[in-house]
Order: sequence, then structure tokens, then C-alpha cells
Amino acid sequence: MLTTTVLKTDPSHIDEKVILSASAALKAGELVAIPTETVYGLAANALDAHAVEKIFIAKGRPQDNPLIVHIADPAGLSLCAAEVPESALRLAKAFWPGPLTMILKKTERIPGIVSAGLPSVALRMPSHPVAAAVIHAAGLPLAAPSANLSGSPSPTSAAHVFDDLNGRIGLIIDGGDCGVGVESTVVTLCGDTPRVLRPGGITPEQLAAVLGGIEIDPAVTKPLAKGARAASPGMKYRHYAPRTRVVIVHGSLAEFAALLKSRRASGERCAALCFEGEEALVGRPALAYGIAGDAASQARKLFGALRAVDALGAETVYARCPPREGVGLAVYNRLLRAAAFQEIAL
Ligand code: AMP
Ligand code: MG
Repeated sequence: MLTTTVLKTDPSHIDEKVILSASAALKAGELVAIPTETVYGLAANALDAHAVEKIFIAKGRPQDNPLIVHIADPAGLSLCAAEVPESALRLAKAFWPGPLTMILKKTERIPGIVSAGLPSVALRMPSHPVAAAVIHAAGLPLAAPSANLSGSPSPTSAAHVFDDLNGRIGLIIDGGDCGVGVESTVVTLCGDTPRVLRPGGITPEQLAAVLGGIEIDPAVTKPLAKGARAASPGMKYRHYAPRTRVVIVHGSLAEFAALLKSRRASGERCAALCFEGEEALVGRPALAYGIAGDAASQARKLFGALRAVDALGAETVYARCPPREGVGLAVYNRLLRAAAFQEIAL
């Protein structure tokens, strides 16, 4: 059991002492949870296999699920990737720093544990001032998956990290709530056509505008066929899930409210995951995740709402379906996994 210290810093007035504590711990091979613009990350020195192993242990993460390596500037691309195609440079210029991860062929410098034995590595340059300052101060690429227990919703506040990892890690840097709220877009540049493996803050439309043709992996919105190999190993696991059963509902607000009314009348202990201001109409217990029609606000609020669902004491929570365009595709992708792909169309 470790003693978990939480150090706070305002991202717009960074406390250098806090950054120094984080970088010292990372250089000593310890784990540090840091805020990023997507979700909180659990960071370790990506070049130290022993330090990276601690991430898998603290999270209970399956060893075959590779980690994203966070770098301080685009120059880090050529240190971690064996080949840097033109498309990677164009994407870095357009979207870095920011919520975009690129999969490229890896160099020998990246230990096999980081890439879970794959010949590729996932690379991202975060824009969050605290994450950027920590990577700079450590002077190292940092392997950092989301700072939650494996399977549970990703953390978008330091309190979420503490709830999951208290006693399992030594240090959490509290830089406030995350701005994007869902994990980065993952795009692989290892094949003939760039392919989105996980939707996130950078939308397929934005990627297509820079690259021309892109593909979206079918696993983004469909369960993997039995025995199929996941292009992104993380996509095959049950994810982001509360203990309560989640069911996504396609339909209008009026149809959604009627469904809840009839399920309650038939004796089902159910709750609603709806949009702000809809609680009275859909009946309580209800929890809101963002504003109807505003995918960015839904992305920011989804994981916090999924963390709060179990406290409602329901057997089933019915969730309003987000719009599936733009950032909404990322919200839908996370909600699908929380729902184990259970959907109802009204
Ligand atoms: P997390 O950091 O917990 O949000 O998860 C990282 C995601 O990136 C997972 O879905 C991984 O499967 C994916 N990923 C990381 N490295 C690779 C890689 N080399 N090839 C394909 N997917 C990767
Ligand atoms: Mg994760």
C-alpha cells in the first residue's frame, strides 16, 4: 500500500514546485497521475520497462493492451518512430499539441512492454499546460494510459483518479477538470490508408480535411467478430462500464420518456441517463450528461456521469443516444462499450 499524495496546480499559473515533484518521481521510475486535455493519464518513463510495468499493475490492465507515449514536441516523433511518413508530419502540424494519437512503426528505444509486443507505437503530444510542463521537466517520453482501474470509466478529475488509485500510486497532480473529457482520437498510419481506430476529440471530418482519404475501423461502432484480431487491442475489452446495466435508446425525447414510464410501471428499477434539463420529463432517478445537441459538452460530462450511475441504485439505466457526428462519434463509441453494445431503437 502506497501513500498517495495529491498536489494541486492551476493550469494557467503553473506551480513549478509541483512540476518538479512530478518530474523527480518520474525520473526515479515512479508513477504519477497527470491531467491532460482528454482525461487524466497515469504516467511512467516510457524508456524504462520496469517503470512501465508498474502502470499495468496499478491499473490491473491486461498486458496485451499497449500504451500511448506522450512527447513534448513533434521532434519526439523521430526518436520513437522508425519511419515518419509525410502524413504524420501533416497531422502533427494540424493537430499537435492536441487530442490526436498516431500509430507508427516503433524504434528499438521503445520497450516491448509499452507496445504490448506490437511492432508499432502510439504517439501523442498533449496540449494541457500541466502535462506539457511535466514531460518537458522530466525530459522523457511518458507512457500514459488513462488513470483509472482497468474497465472503469476514464477519470476526468483528480477526485476520480483518487477514487480508483488511492494506495496504488504515490502521486496525483490535480490540475482541475479535463476540457475534452474523452480519450484521444487514435489513427494508424501503418497501413495503406490512414484508419481511425478510436474516435476522440479530433473528428474524422477534421482528419479527412488534412489527409484526404481516411477509413474508420468497423470496431468503432460494432462489436468484434468472435476470434477476430483487434487492430487496437484496447477496443476488445469491456470498458468505461458502471456495474449497473446500461442500455442505449435511439428515439425522440418523448419516446424516451414514454419508455421509462412504462418500464417503471412494469416494476423495473430503472434510471435515466439524459441531457440537462430533461430530468423532470423523463422522471427520477435521472442523471444528465451534457446538453442535447452539444456533443462537446456530452464528451466532457459522460465519464463523470457513468461514475455516478451506480449510486442511483437502479438495475438498468437507459441512456439517451448522442448525435453520432463529429465529437459525438467518440461519445457514442464510449457509451456503446459502457452498454456492452445493448441498444433499443424506438
Ligand atoms: P488508453 O491510453 O487507456 O486510453 O488506451 C490506449 C489505446 O490506444 C488503447 O485502445 C490501445 O489499444 C491503443 N493503442 C496503443 N498503442 C497501440 C498500437 N501500437 N497499435 C494499436 N493500438 C494501440
Ligand atoms: Mg483507458
